[in-house]
Amino acid sequence: MSDDCLFCSIVDGDIPGRIVAERDGALAFLDANPLAPGHTLVVPRTHAERLDDLSADDSRAVFDLVHDLVPDVEAAVDADGLNVGVNDGEAAGQEVPHVHVHLVPRFEGDGGAPVHAVAGDRPDLSDDDLDEIAAKIE
Ligand code: 5GP
Ligand code: ZN
Repeated sequence: MSDDCLFCSIVDGDIPGRIVAERDGALAFLDANPLAPGHTLVVPRTHAERLDDLSADDSRAVFDLVHDLVPDVEAAVDADGLNVGVNDGEAAGQEVPHVHVHLVPRFEGDGGAPVHAVAGDRPDLSDDDLDEIAAKIE
């Protein structure tokens, strides 16, 4: 538990949340300001700000729950598809500093966009640039 963390408070039951699934290491609840009906957040029970701060066990708990919930959320709102995403860090749009995976149901013709739309202008990268980046990540 981290003091003053909104999602720790939901995990601890100190503030209400529409909880849809509970596991040992992870919890899922509806987003209070949904982008679509069924917009769900999956969080680790233990406070961690960024994905890189998650323990291996908590990471497994979170992503196993994501995997299990995708079909349930999609079916519950009769969606045609679903985007799964994490805003990891302030520069990526993270507002609540407790790791959370967004499950956003999508509907044919809903006017939304694919995850390709989240970044800014596309960079102009040569094959050499791509090779260098791949080597650094590796
Ligand atoms: P972020 O930008 O950090 O990835 O997303 C934070 C999400 O938390 C937003 O989608 C926002 O609607 C949601 N949110 C903010 N405050 C609350 C709250 O008090 N309860 C719930 N259930 N969701 C919240
Ligand atoms: Zn927290």
